[in-house]
Amino acid sequence: MATDYYTVLGVGRDASQDQIKKAFRRLARELHPDVNPDPKTQERFKEINAAYEVLSDPQKKQVYDLGGDPLSQAGGAGGAGGFGAGFGNFSDIMDAFFGASSQRGPRSRTRRGQDAMIRLDVELEEAAFGTTKEIQVDTAIVCTTCTGEGAAPGTSAQTCDMCRGRGEVSQVTRSFLGQVMTSRPCPQCQGFGTVVPTPCPECAGDGRIRSRRTLTVKIPAGVDNGTRIQLAGEGEVGPGGGPAGDLYVEIHELPHSVFQRRGDDLHCTVTIPMTAASLGTKCPLETLDGLEEIDIRPGTQSGQSIPLHQRGVTHLRGGGRGDLIVHVEVLTPSKLDPEQEELLRRIAKLRGEERPTGQFQPGQQGLFSRLKDAFNGR
Ligand SMILES: [Zn+2]
Ligand SMILES: [Zn+2]
Repeated sequence: MATDYYTVLGVGRDASQDQIKKAFRRLARELHPDVNPDPKTQERFKEINAAYEVLSDPQKKQVYDLGGDPLSQAGGAGGAGGFGAGFGNFSDIMDAFFGASSQRGPRSRTRRGQDAMIRLDVELEEAAFGTTKEIQVDTAIVCTTCTGEGAAPGTSAQTCDMCRGRGEVSQVTRSFLGQVMTSRPCPQCQGFGTVVPTPCPECAGDGRIRSRRTLTVKIPAGVDNGTRIQLAGEGEVGPGGGPAGDLYVEIHELPHSVFQRRGDDLHCTVTIPMTAASLGTKCPLETLDGLEEIDIRPGTQSGQSIPLHQRGVTHLRGGGRGDLIVHVEVLTPSKLDPEQEELLRRIAKLRGEERPTGQFQPGQQGLFSRLKDAFNGR
């Protein structure tokens, strides 16, 4: 079996013990046979157990890193057994399901609130230079009636009489192994250790209420489609008036009528008549920085581009800006009247272009060679 244990757990070879443990727990939750009885999944579950057994043990990990198979040396504990393989894993599996075993006693009624995300439309100009926007968010805030306690005004939470505030109840059962004591969360108080006899009428005991808030968001210069701005503590307040989660504002940049953005550069196309391309001209262009004159040099070819440095979008990190690139398209004159045709024929004659042969090159040479290079990894 040439399975790579690092790949099985989806961690790098330099992963810390903590990262290995976290990866294992996440997978164990997902692939446990009780959750997922599919035979293929069970095979995967055995694999992650074997991988974790090795990588969580510094000695076995060292043997494995040096190219050995610590499981076959240790008497074939891997492969076949699954659960039986490493009882050392068992507490970690339990942890994965029931949370850290060190967490004893009543659990708190307050929990951290969820993160939230909101999409925000911005214009190109706003993305380029940054702005400040007001947004409205529907969110949960601390209940003003009970200040998050969950109890109706004038009342308070009381110690649970079933578990006497411990949050869990114990039970002794006889089994063939002898007496076994098991603990489980108190069914009367759901493990909180307290009960709220009269819940707050405003929030029904949840400690928080829905509300609409207006927030002012600072949009930094250089944001792009999909950029997320984190507003710490502006998400939902948690149950029991717990600390608020974070709010993420995701930027959605609206298309611009003239400019197309690629990275921090802006692109646009200007179409000019053949005569102007040949003689040169100046074209007014409304850029993000105001009106500018684009200098079309005499003899400009179709497809040529004119860069305007530092006229693009501000770089989000570090100073400076992208460029504005104006692509030139030359219009060939058509529908000539007799006089125009006569003039053009004269020009052609003067330039010796009456019977041009044209210049041929291999088709799409540039593109093909670039593709070939990409395939060859060059
Ligand atoms: Zn309340
Ligand atoms: Zn209780």
